This record gives sequence, structure tokens and C-alpha cells, in this order.
Amino acid sequence: MHKNYDVIVAGTGPAGLAIASALGREGLNIVCVDPKANQPWENNTCAWADEIRPLGLDKYCDKIWPQIEIIFGENSSKVLAGAYAHFDNDKLRNALLKDIKEIVVQETVTVAHDGKGSIVTLKNGDKLKSIMVVDATGHAHRLMEKPEKEADSFQNVLGILARVGKHPYSLEHMILMDFRSGFLGKKNHPPTFLYAMPFAPDLAFFEETSLADNPGVPFDLLKERLYQRLEHMKIKILKVEKNEEGALAMNPVVPDLKQRVIGYGLAGGFVHAATGWSVARSLAQSGPAARSIAEGIRAGLLPDAIAEQTYKILWPRELLRMRIIHKRGARCGTPIFPGIPPS
Ligand SMILES: Cc1cc2nc3c(=O)[nH]c(=O)nc-3n(C[C@H](O)[C@H](O)[C@H](O)COP(=O)(O)OP(=O)(O)OC[C@H]3O[C@@H](n4cnc5c(N)ncnc54)[C@H](O)[C@@H]3O)c2cc1C
Repeated sequence: MHKNYDVIVAGTGPAGLAIASALGREGLNIVCVDPKANQPWENNTCAWADEIRPLGLDKYCDKIWPQIEIIFGENSSKVLAGAYAHFDNDKLRNALLKDIKEIVVQETVTVAHDGKGSIVTLKNGDKLKSIMVVDATGHAHRLMEKPEKEADSFQNVLGILARVGKHPYSLEHMILMDFRSGFLGKKNHPPTFLYAMPFAPDLAFFEETSLADNPGVPFDLLKERLYQRLEHMKIKILKVEKNEEGALAMNPVVPDLKQRVIGYGLAGGFVHAATGWSVARSLAQSGPAARSIAEGIRAGLLPDAIAEQTYKILWPRELLRMRIIHKRGARCGTPIFPGIPPS
């Protein structure tokens, strides 16, 4: 016996919970599926404050810095317009979870479609049935078709949240990128930079970052550089409160926009090619996407038609064009998305 839903959402990362919460608020019968559904989000989650304030999401942030600085060299820096926001992951996650009634702690394995809906098979053999399926499984994008191979370009990062004797930053500004590399002498390749967020006079997050590389810059090298850099800056680490290490997929391909499964978040190619971020976009598009799905279901549209109208909202022509520019800028040597209709 299959359990029946309006929508199955695979993945409960920021993207999965954002769209599932919005679908729940639309009054749809939804289920989320994720083997790690009970685990908190570990990574720092940040966004430009201007992107989340209009959505009223700044109330889920534990810190907003009014100034963002980029340091290019010893005597060269720039303060960017706009503020920078750091989410309290648990607060945001719990707020999104309130709208979600059912979660299955399992892995989705396959999806099969018929005229009226889809059947998702889970790793334990159970099958769930729904009118629509959203794939928000991140880099795995288990249930979706992509028109080309994923581009291999990774932003590798290694960071620490640390108690320090003192740090040189004002609590009013964070350092998006500090490119100074004089402390490395001639051994300054591949290029990396410091990303720093001061939370208190004696507490800051420091992360050595490689913007994009293939293969990604080794974590050992990032760690070595981070500690060298902090020593050079005379920042004394008293206690490491938390470690962060990860690879951000920088160039995920735009999904095939003709398919039934709706790709969302990282799985749906939302990633910004310059920063590697996607959370703000996943949050911002969840309302319009959920409305499109709910209206389609209420109007009795066929699933393919609902997916098509929803993809038009997620990937309007302007965004597809911007994507081309981003990819060219990233120069990762992959073909540009071929499916954009002529204007
Ligand atoms: C160290 C680090 C720091 C980052 N900082 C930021 C930041 O500040 N701001 C930002 O916007 N982005 C940041 N990112 C990028 C960030 O990871 C993504 O933006 C965000 O997590 C993407 O959310 P998502 O829900 O699309 O995918 P994910 O967070 O990857 O979530 C995917 C979920 O799908 C689940 N899943 C996988 N396979 C299956 C399956 N077969 N069935 C069911 N579930 C499955 C996984 O368990 C996971 O819970 C950072 C990434 C890293 C590594």
C-alpha cells in the first residue's frame, strides 16, 4: 500500500525545509524524506541582509554586521554597500519545521511517474505516492535529470569559531575576503583568502577559503595557512569552539526544465557562481514556488504542467541569462546552459 501525498520533498536541508514549509502553509498534504532529517544544520549559514530583510527573516539571525569589508592588500581595502547576516540555524530550522507535519527518516532512491503522479521508492523498500515531487537533496540530486555532467569546481573552506585573546576587528564589520598573502612568501599558490566574522571582542570565526578550484584545494593546506595567517596577525587562539570544513559545489548545472521533478536549492542549481551560496534564494523563492504548485494542484492541472509553470518561476529568462554570465566569469571550462529560448 502506498501512502498518498500532494507533494513529496526529498531533503531537509535549508532548501527542502524552506519549500516544504511554504507548501505546508499552502495547506497541502506533504511529507519530507531525509536520512539526516533529525540532524541539525552544522555549517554557518549567512546571506546578504538585504536579501532576507524583505522576507522578514532577519528575526532568525543571531548577528548582522552593518559593514562588509574586502581587503585586497596591505594598503588597499573596500567597504561594500549593504549588511551581512548570520542565521541562528536552530531558530530558522525550527521555524520552518513548524509548518511540516510529516517527516520520514529515510533515503529516497528512485522515482517513477505515471499520468497522475509519481511513486518515490525509499531505501528500506517503502513507496510513497504523490502528485508532485521536489528534489532538494543537494549535490546528490538523486531524483532529477540534468542535461549535462555537473561541473567540477569546488570552494573548499576550513574554519574555526575560536575564543581569542583579542582580534583586530570592530564588531560592526565582517571581513568577506582578506586576500593578504605576504605571510606566505613565495609559496602563495593556489590563492586563498580569509573570511572572518567577529561575534564578540573575544570570539570570532576565521575561515581560510579557496574561491573555486578543480580539484578543490586540500584541507590540510587550508588549515596550515589559516594558523600561519592568524599567527602572523598576532591572534592568539585560546579555545576552538567549533570546526567547519567543507566543499561548496560552485557550478551546479541548471536542471532540465522540462522534467516532472522540481529541483530545488543546490539540487536545482540555485548556487551563485561567485559566492557558492544558495540559502537566501531557496528561502526567497519558496513562497512563489509553493503557490504555483498549490494552485496547479487545486486547479487539477496535470503534474507535467504544474512542473512547467513552477520552473518558469524558478528559472525566468533573466536568471538563465545571468547564469551564463556567472559561468563565463567563473571560467570553469564547462559548456554554458544550452536550453535558453531565443529572445
Ligand atoms: C562549510 C560550508 C559553509 C557554507 N556557508 C553557506 C552560507 O553561509 N550561505 C549559503 O547560502 N550557503 C552556504 N553554503 C552552501 C550550503 O551548503 C548550501 O547553500 C546549502 O546547504 C544548500 O542547501 P540545500 O538544502 O540545497 O542542500 P543541502 O544543505 O546539501 O541539503 C541536502 C539534504 O538532502 C539530504 N539528502 C541527500 N541525499 C538524499 C536522498 N537520496 N534522499 C533524501 N535526502 C537526501 C541530505 O541529507 C541533506 O540533508 C555552505 C556550504 C559549506 C560546505
